[in-house]
Amino acid sequence: MDTVKTTLVIGLGLIGGSLALALKKAGLGGHIIGCDRDQDEVELAISIGMIDQGSVRAEDWIEQADLIVISVPVIAMESVMAQIRPLLRPDTIVTDVGSSKGSVLASAEKVWGSLPDNFVLGHPIAGSEKSGVAAALVDLYQRHKVIVTPAENNPQAAVRCVTQMWQACGAEVLSMDIPHHDEVLAATSHLPHLLAFSLVDTLARQDESLEIFRYAAGGFRDFTRIAASDPVMWRDIFTANQRAVLKALTEFEQGLAILRTAVEQSDSDAMLGIFTRAKSAREHFSRILENSAYIPMQNKLIHYRAAPGGALSGRLRVPGDKSISHRSIMLGSLAEGTTHIKGFLEGEDSLATLQAFRDMGVVIEGPHQGEVTVHGVGLHGLKKPAGPLYLGNSGTSMRLLAGLMAGQSFDVELTGDASLTKRPMERVAKPLREMGAVVETAEGGRPPMLIRGGQQLKGIDYVMPMASAQVKSCVLLAGLYAQGETQTTEPAPTRDHTERMLTGFGYSVARNGASASLQGGGKLVASDIDVPSDISSAAFFMVAGSIAPDSEIVIEHVGLNPTRVGVINILKLMGADITLENEAEVGGEPVADIRVRSAQLKGIDIPEDQVPLAIDEFPVLFVAAACAEGVTRLRGAEELRVKESDRIQVMADGLLALGVDCTVVEDGIDIVGGVIGSGSVHSRDDHRIAMSFAVASLRSEGEIFIEDCANVATSFPGFVELANGAGFNLSVEDESL
Ligand code: NAP
Repeated sequence: MDTVKTTLVIGLGLIGGSLALALKKAGLGGHIIGCDRDQDEVELAISIGMIDQGSVRAEDWIEQADLIVISVPVIAMESVMAQIRPLLRPDTIVTDVGSSKGSVLASAEKVWGSLPDNFVLGHPIAGSEKSGVAAALVDLYQRHKVIVTPAENNPQAAVRCVTQMWQACGAEVLSMDIPHHDEVLAATSHLPHLLAFSLVDTLARQDESLEIFRYAAGGFRDFTRIAASDPVMWRDIFTANQRAVLKALTEFEQGLAILRTAVEQSDSDAMLGIFTRAKSAREHFSRILENSAYIPMQNKLIHYRAAPGGALSGRLRVPGDKSISHRSIMLGSLAEGTTHIKGFLEGEDSLATLQAFRDMGVVIEGPHQGEVTVHGVGLHGLKKPAGPLYLGNSGTSMRLLAGLMAGQSFDVELTGDASLTKRPMERVAKPLREMGAVVETAEGGRPPMLIRGGQQLKGIDYVMPMASAQVKSCVLLAGLYAQGETQTTEPAPTRDHTERMLTGFGYSVARNGASASLQGGGKLVASDIDVPSDISSAAFFMVAGSIAPDSEIVIEHVGLNPTRVGVINILKLMGADITLENEAEVGGEPVADIRVRSAQLKGIDIPEDQVPLAIDEFPVLFVAAACAEGVTRLRGAEELRVKESDRIQVMADGLLALGVDCTVVEDGIDIVGGVIGSGSVHSRDDHRIAMSFAVASLRSEGEIFIEDCANVATSFPGFVELANGAGFNLSVEDESL
């Protein structure tokens, strides 16, 4: 683009005029010349500084142009090309802006015989319903996309020049081949325009049309705004992109026919299926367009300012357990009948699982304030998804789904974000292959995973080389589809949510010590699930209620899976006053309300057998230790150093900053109970550290300022509101990035 001393824009309408304005503003493109068939438009363009020079005769300027942009209607492209051909220098770069690319290529081939080397086709995805110089906008292309469709004979330098031109206007440039471009645009732009024109025309022809338009509500306005676009331009586009538009229209007509039948037959399930899929797809697209993940990403730094003191009271319910939220969607989808879920954790990971099953044709309503309704399709009712299943950052989703997908009749590809793509998948691929599945992974056994359908799996007796609940679950879930018995044996106890929930859905799982086994070929029966509250989230309030003087709280419906209850055992050893009420079983999981009263805690040597059962809860247990009489010693917890942060060191840094005496060792820490002072601590982006220091403020002498708490929202949505409701005194400060 640096070598361009003269740019010629042919066609000073909305698109060409806006480009000239943006190039002028960016100071690129050198001398800008504009041509249009209307002399008045050219004069107007010069008078407002859009172009330096211009006229109605493009042929007068061709020879001096280093870059020519043809921005006339697609139907006029051929005549403009014929006009420039005799005078075009071989080194001049040419591009266009036409909304269909196959037709522009055909015009060029007609005029030149084949596309000239330096002619790079392009299409800005920006516009409005207006036309002409007066409609041009300097920032029309800011943050919009431009598609270039380079041909094999286009030199790199020419493609680069056109790319840089659009980037200088603030656009993001994408590259595509021509047929793909025309199909994508037919579906996403041309078809909606066609439908809007048709709907407004149909209604306008009715007798009472005035009435209809007078009362037309927002929906009609939103849907038909584009029917005000330039009729001539759209006639040209539908003519130019006829084949792709008709293909998109045929697909639409088929979809409409299905919906018509559903309405005719009052088929509620079919309608709900179409609408929930459309709604979630629309939301998914919006998030993609906003470049965000399933839940809005923070573009702010969030800090907590925790005022000292506070007594806790009341009943509260913390968010649902993540592991159980995942499994409730999976088993609900594969069950026969309708599963109602309450307390579903609307976190990014469990939403990825939910989306994956929607992509396989399961009708899922919600989530709405933790409520989800899953219309199960049975073990053999999933449909082939239209594309790869995208599982975001969720390792649980990918490993468990791998097991389920191994038994399907169709091929599936499982993909995820950059960080998931680094995680090992061979540990699940290996046992699945032993069962007869065909599983391909990328280099080094990493995602994406391609799982071939139509294989008959056979049960295996899998002695797991590592203690992993995900691997165990994957094999057992594949076992649902296998002939005979599938058995897993684990080297050390791991979370058993899958075994429990399978039982809750009426599928018999035999358990014998470290082994679990099931017979393939059974069926799952829908079961309503009130997802237990996550004990890891409840732990903050267990410690809070224990250390804050004059407190008594009840944490409702907490999951008490025996593989997770270390925090209760440890707190009780420290002298906490914790009692269980309303003990029950939900979907195979034990749950209870936990009543916590203030108590004077004492330092203990934490039994090593409790460490794996409380591994996520240590940051807040360290706060309990800081408030206890005497020394609390933790050993055998090196795994804490490789969590979201080095939890031993980061907690120790914070405690020391608040005047608490502690000593870090390789696999643990010694904490001397005493007085918590005041000061500033850093969470190092770790949600559990941030919440732990918020708990510490209940016994601190002065204010604690906690930096970098944005991640709390992902694991514990609503933490600050819930904590303040119970008696904390937290305020949130944000700082835009
Ligand atoms: P526009 O505002 O109507 O501008 C087109 C301009 O080209 C008009 O001033 C027209 O003059 C002039 N023109 C027509 N034939 C010509 C010729 N033979 N020589 C010189 N000038 C000529 O239309 P636009 O919206 O800018 O669209 C231009 C191109 O951009 C089209 O190919 C369209 O497919 C593409 N595009 C449009 C949009 C959009 O939303 N508008 C978006 C992306 C791409 P007259 O008014 O005298 O005919």
